[in-house]
Amino acid sequence: MNFNLDNLIRENIKKMTAYSSARHEFSGNARIFLDANENAFGSPLEEDYNRYPDPLQVSVKEKISKIKGVPPENIFLGNGSDEAIDLLFRIFCEPGKDNVIIFPPTYGMYEVCAEMNDVNLKKVPLTTGYQLDLGNIEEAIDPFTKLIFICSPNNPTGNSINRSDIEVLLNNFEGLVVIDEAYINYARQKTFIPELMEYPNLVILQTLSKAWGLAGLRLGMAFASQPVIDLMNKVKYPYNINTATQQLVSTALDNIITVNDWIQITVEQREWLREELTQLPFTQAVYPSDANFLLVKMDGAKKIYDFLAATGIIVRDRSKIILCADCLRITIGTPEENQLLTDALKTYKP
Ligand SMILES: *Cc1c(COP(=O)(O)O)cnc(C)c1O
Repeated sequence: MNFNLDNLIRENIKKMTAYSSARHEFSGNARIFLDANENAFGSPLEEDYNRYPDPLQVSVKEKISKIKGVPPENIFLGNGSDEAIDLLFRIFCEPGKDNVIIFPPTYGMYEVCAEMNDVNLKKVPLTTGYQLDLGNIEEAIDPFTKLIFICSPNNPTGNSINRSDIEVLLNNFEGLVVIDEAYINYARQKTFIPELMEYPNLVILQTLSKAWGLAGLRLGMAFASQPVIDLMNKVKYPYNINTATQQLVSTALDNIITVNDWIQITVEQREWLREELTQLPFTQAVYPSDANFLLVKMDGAKKIYDFLAATGIIVRDRSKIILCADCLRITIGTPEENQLLTDALKTYKP
């Protein structure tokens, strides 16, 4: 394969000069900082937030580096993984000319970012078994295809994508293969992180929004070759991760034991809920899941959605989405919540 990153980058991105902040130009120790027009008195809060945050989040990246086994220079941190997705479009996709490929049914932000950036989107649906359709993917790829988004485990179907199929794309596609591993902590399949050094065209997305329980802080991670990470840092807003998030995430990352307990309970509950849902007379299928949710096909899914909502339980109605007719996506809750859900469903009369 002939992978050449330089050929993929938009000309304006190559040419542009990155914003140089005060914090960039001087980052050592000093007594008095009069370089960034900050308020020198402090903040009207217990904690001081009057100084701009570290634009490259050095100390957070050191902790993530230890947990993930990825050098800091191969890590980008974004305001959610959604920021990383948007940056990849802006760096690599020329509006009105280039295209990206996605595999519906999948995560909605890839399409939103494509539309927002005026980038042509090619959709190659998953097979009925929710796996990649390699024949049709090969046909869809053209010289203007810059990015391929693979969500694994996939949202909303829950299954992991076959590793060997992903490897076929990594070995043959000359653009970037983006693997969104938002749910990897719940998966039987392993992360592609150990493969980073082998594939210069690989970008892996992960997030603190799911297993880590930090959706409200907005911290997404991208792992990739250093040239790709450098481009993302060049194009991002200078202070994309605020000080409060950097501090709180640093503290949270020391508490991996709690997170691992939650993951274990969630996986056990997922299998318990699968059993319970399977036994309901109106359930047609509970699909295999490597994530913290189940996709369930039920007779009259929309009616069941409304019934649950009326009892105060909200699930996600996916019945209008391709390959998901009559499907609800149900997040695994606490054991108590899951019990209340199944209690409610047992009282439902179609
Ligand atoms: C939830 C989710 C994310 C998380 O996005 P953040 O912006 O990091 O909160 C990313 N990808 C997929 C597939 C998701 O389901």
